[in-house]
Amino acid sequence: MNARRGKVWLVGAGPGDPGLLTLKGARAIKGCEALVYDYLASQAIVDLAPPDCERIYVGKKAGQHTLTQTEITALIVKLALEGKRVVRLKGGDVFVFARGGEEAQALHAAGVPFDIVPGITSAIAAPAYAGIPVTHRDHNTSFSISTGHEDPLKGYTSLDYAKLANPKSTTIFLMAMGNLTGIVAELQKNGLPGTTPVAIVREGTKPTQETLIATLATIVDEVERTQFAAPAIVVIGNVVNERESIRWFDRAPLFGKRVLVTRPPAQGDAFAQHLWEAGAEPLLAPTIAIGPPDDAGAATAAVARIRDYAWVVFTSRNGVDAFFDTLGASGKDARAIGDAKVAAIGPKTAAALSAHGIRVDFMPDVYINEAVAGGLTERTAPGDRLLVFRAQEARDVLPETLRAAGRIVDDVAAYKTRFVDDPDLRAKAERADIVTFTSSSTVNGFVHNVADAAHVLARKTVAAIGPITAATARGLGIRVDVVAEEFTVEGLLQALEAGVIV
Ligand code: SAH
Repeated sequence: MNARRGKVWLVGAGPGDPGLLTLKGARAIKGCEALVYDYLASQAIVDLAPPDCERIYVGKKAGQHTLTQTEITALIVKLALEGKRVVRLKGGDVFVFARGGEEAQALHAAGVPFDIVPGITSAIAAPAYAGIPVTHRDHNTSFSISTGHEDPLKGYTSLDYAKLANPKSTTIFLMAMGNLTGIVAELQKNGLPGTTPVAIVREGTKPTQETLIATLATIVDEVERTQFAAPAIVVIGNVVNERESIRWFDRAPLFGKRVLVTRPPAQGDAFAQHLWEAGAEPLLAPTIAIGPPDDAGAATAAVARIRDYAWVVFTSRNGVDAFFDTLGASGKDARAIGDAKVAAIGPKTAAALSAHGIRVDFMPDVYINEAVAGGLTERTAPGDRLLVFRAQEARDVLPETLRAAGRIVDDVAAYKTRFVDDPDLRAKAERADIVTFTSSSTVNGFVHNVADAAHVLARKTVAAIGPITAATARGLGIRVDVVAEEFTVEGLLQALEAGVIV
């Protein structure tokens, strides 16, 4: 007998921006064992599924074999009957022109329990991201959402165009690009004035969003002229005029920019989130990976005599992670630090310590090694013993400055940064508008893969997290356009938003 009953979550992924997934949807995806998804679901959402989750793509893409609706329904029933927690992920909302109703009924018929997690439909979100409110007190008290799938020119339509041609309502069409001529003709025939404003929003809520504004009389010609293509939402009504004052998303400074993120994923993910929120499209291309140092014994030995140190110093979040990993492997926890004081190079490192219950005693105003060395020299006396827990390949300036001032420094290589081999890196960089470097090693990792980096990056905006990283890039002949004032990814984003000239 099957010990556990399977279950299906029908989850709406929202219209494209991964930030528009609901909390409940995210929870379902994070806990699922099989994920069955469409082409409209964004990769960032699919990536939320656990690593061992079975991912099954059933969407339509040109030239690819696709499952029929019957096959998809049979597949989710089968997975659930195997006892799995299954998420069926659909673009937008699960019921708005998405056949979620049929899937739920099939599950019901098979006796499979299910939850419905509604999603934000593109019908409302795409106009919202174009600055068009679907209702506005000045214009309308109702709106309708219709499918434009049926071609009225073929002589048959189940849509009531006499009702849809109401100037006091907002009329929204999905899947209407193929039949736009017939739809517009039908609305005009039923009395909707040719002057009625029309907006078409394609790829709504994504960095690739585009909006076309015209009138009922001109829209077909405009679509033809601009080759405006699906997937798109057609919005008809006076609310379209409000875009002038409400337009926001496609005005953001980084909107539509493709940004190469070269730092490793665990850190890159947070950066990617920020980029999405700024309207940019992150291209994840880690050039480095963090791993154990050549000699892990030094870290273990240092942790064993942790009580000997007056200060423990961290110059990265990775150092903090490595420290607590080593401590944990020795059967100890944060209490082992005892009376030793703790220094962090910047807010991210301090936050990582804080997550372990450690409040830092010193963090410099400028987040570089030179400032850590200066601050610690002021706070210690000759003969004091300091433990520096950091990358194997880190610069020597910190221990050397302290030693020159008579401090005893144990400089422990706690982790090692290695270069990632990525044969696609050049192609990814060529697609990008902006290339970001968040440490010297990300620059070196880039050059490791793309020997003529200076040439490849010549026409890109190159952004560095701080002056040291910028100097490393410049030393390799790479022009740097933007340097953050605060040396964090948030600082880098701010600098990009303020300074990018494109
Ligand atoms: N369930 C989905 C709709 C699926 S039908 C929802 O609620 O959004 C597919 C149609 O949705 C497309 O042809 C297009 O008209 C529309 N669509 C989906 N995502 C879109 C997006 N990001 N921007 C514009 N239109 C979109």
